[in-house]
Amino acid sequence: MSTITFLGLGQMGGPMAANLVKAGHQVVGYDLAPQAREHAEAAGVRVADRPSAGADEADFVITMLPTGQHVLDVYADPAGPLAASRPDTVFIDSSTISVGQAKAAAQLAAEAGRRAVDAPVSGGVFGAQAATLTFMVGGDEAEVAQVKGVLESMGKRIVHCGPHGAGQAAKICNNMVLGVSMAAISEAFVLGEKLGLDPQVFYDVASTSSAQCWALTTNCPIPGPVPASPANRDYQGGFATALIAKDLALAAEAADGAGTATEFGRLAAKLFREHADSGAARLDFSSILVALREQAGGPDNQEQHL
Ligand code: NAD
Repeated sequence: MSTITFLGLGQMGGPMAANLVKAGHQVVGYDLAPQAREHAEAAGVRVADRPSAGADEADFVITMLPTGQHVLDVYADPAGPLAASRPDTVFIDSSTISVGQAKAAAQLAAEAGRRAVDAPVSGGVFGAQAATLTFMVGGDEAEVAQVKGVLESMGKRIVHCGPHGAGQAAKICNNMVLGVSMAAISEAFVLGEKLGLDPQVFYDVASTSSAQCWALTTNCPIPGPVPASPANRDYQGGFATALIAKDLALAAEAADGAGTATEFGRLAAKLFREHADSGAARLDFSSILVALREQAGGPDNQEQHL
């Protein structure tokens, strides 16, 4: 079993750290937010009062932070875990950040004589809780072999995507599809309502037809059909609108660099950015359905259509 420093104990990092504890690892954690620290402590994480968080004893340092700037600040912090760690400590960043920032983080680690991988995840808060995440790993063969065991305590699929940054490239493409599909499913529910279609009936059809996707059957944006989806809890918890807006902006930035149009991705980026800025930043991103319904003037001028 390993000794692990875990920074960022939020919606994702909290349950991921808890699963490491369940698997028998020694986990020392740190988060800026008192509530995140309390939850982690209740799950068996030894909570530290500083960002270096036991890194001098750690086999692995895992970061699960909001943005690339947070990750680079932690890696560059002279009082942070990179400076405090042993030469054989391996750094794993599971946050979603840009390809360039992932390469910069690996470079900071290399300059300090440490190994590092980017290992962003897919599967959401459900996957983090159930230890069924998919990890998309960027690094060399030896680094990926070193981190595989610890990632398997938090996920069920570990995919080596290529060199440093390749994990983030896979993640950004995946989340571009996620944003577009959530917007499309939400538009379809709103249109269905306008046409007088019972949302449960639409769900029953679409979930077993060609519209089936994760945004519908796992994170359904309308309350009712999928009891575990954030829509049933006033869109609390889950994957914050601010984070999908960030990911879609990363996709647009990557597309600019690569010279590809990604028009649907850019439309989704605009939609979720406006939704976040309208006060929904902390709500689950499936709350886009409520915004689209408001734009459509509500659910209720229907029956003449049927
Ligand atoms: P979150 O906001 O719930 O958690 C991030 C945590 O990091 C917060 O608790 C915050 O207090 C803490 N933090 C910020 N700066 C810190 C620092 N310097 N030191 C220690 N802690 C610090 O976010 P989340 O939903 O857990 O997402 C984390 C990352 O995972 C993001 O990059 C996100 O894009 C990605 N992600 C999220 C999901 C999801 O469904 N929520 C899914 C896949 C990937």
